[in-house]
Amino acid sequence: MSYRFPWYRLSDEHLLDMRICDLNLTIKGSFLEPHIRRLYSELNERSIRFKPHVWLSEEWFSPDGVPGIAIPFYLAHPRLMKLERKQMLEIEGGTDTECMRILRHEAGHALDTAYRLHFKARWRILFGSFAQPYPDFYKPRPKSRNYVLHLPAWYAQAHPAEDFAETFAVWLSPRSRWRRRYKGWPALRKLEYTNDLMRELAGAKPRNRTRTKVEPLSAIRTTLRQHYRNKREKYDFDWPANYDRELLRIFSDDPRHKRKPSAASFLRKIRRDARQLVADGTGVHQYTIDHVLQNMIDRCNDLRLRVAAPARETRRKVMIVLTVQVMNVLHSGYHRIAV
Ligand SMILES: [Zn+2]
Repeated sequence: MSYRFPWYRLSDEHLLDMRICDLNLTIKGSFLEPHIRRLYSELNERSIRFKPHVWLSEEWFSPDGVPGIAIPFYLAHPRLMKLERKQMLEIEGGTDTECMRILRHEAGHALDTAYRLHFKARWRILFGSFAQPYPDFYKPRPKSRNYVLHLPAWYAQAHPAEDFAETFAVWLSPRSRWRRRYKGWPALRKLEYTNDLMRELAGAKPRNRTRTKVEPLSAIRTTLRQHYRNKREKYDFDWPANYDRELLRIFSDDPRHKRKPSAASFLRKIRRDARQLVADGTGVHQYTIDHVLQNMIDRCNDLRLRVAAPARETRRKVMIVLTVQVMNVLHSGYHRIAV
């Protein structure tokens, strides 16, 4: 990893004052370079001639009409990954596995654009209308077998475009054994169609060869501080939650227990573990889960709740209530990954 960047020794406070366009980041020589090379070689192995172009931007996305992939800048330097974790509590795409997962998903969008796949009649029958607007929220059905499972939060269910990108990603993943994994699932038809489609495309020139970079870093004049302020706002939510009944089932406001530890301090102690566990189970961003937890802590303080049951039992109940609340958030207007 190259440390030729003068800003990498700055404290967070000073770093946050920098404008994103002044970071001078490049993909070359970064954590991202080998992953992109791997994506290209996976496409080569499947005889797909098209290779989406990639560039750094603020978020992961593949723009409408441009067959390429924008990658969030923080993945291009370990100092910025550290800042990302501090600001957002997790680094989306920060491990080898997760980075490849998202790249394959975005490659699905890029391929769709490059070969104009969603205009095909069979595509529309299997995945639905590409033109339908993105919903403000989607209600995933975790048990549905009509969709493949790839990115978290049952993302294939969000929109036909996402369904195709997810199906493509599963198809492309080496050793995904999709025929066996999805045997008996209606989703298998989508995988088989994708398999046929990709065979047809083998060696074909893409129809859309635009190499435009949408929202490249050089054009982003906001500071890192402003960037994170906006990003956190996106993961916050207005949730007129009332957990009181649930909290009273876990904790107690009986004066008998007034010498026991406070519910708020108990929640603060398990905060990190709880956040991680529920994020793994639901696919919801840790920042959002932390927000739910903070609301619960505040409410426990207001109600002067105490821990009355054994710690293990209390912990287990907290995890259940937290998961249910987080699923409610998922159902009421939460988006994890941009197009
Ligand atoms: Zn997507």
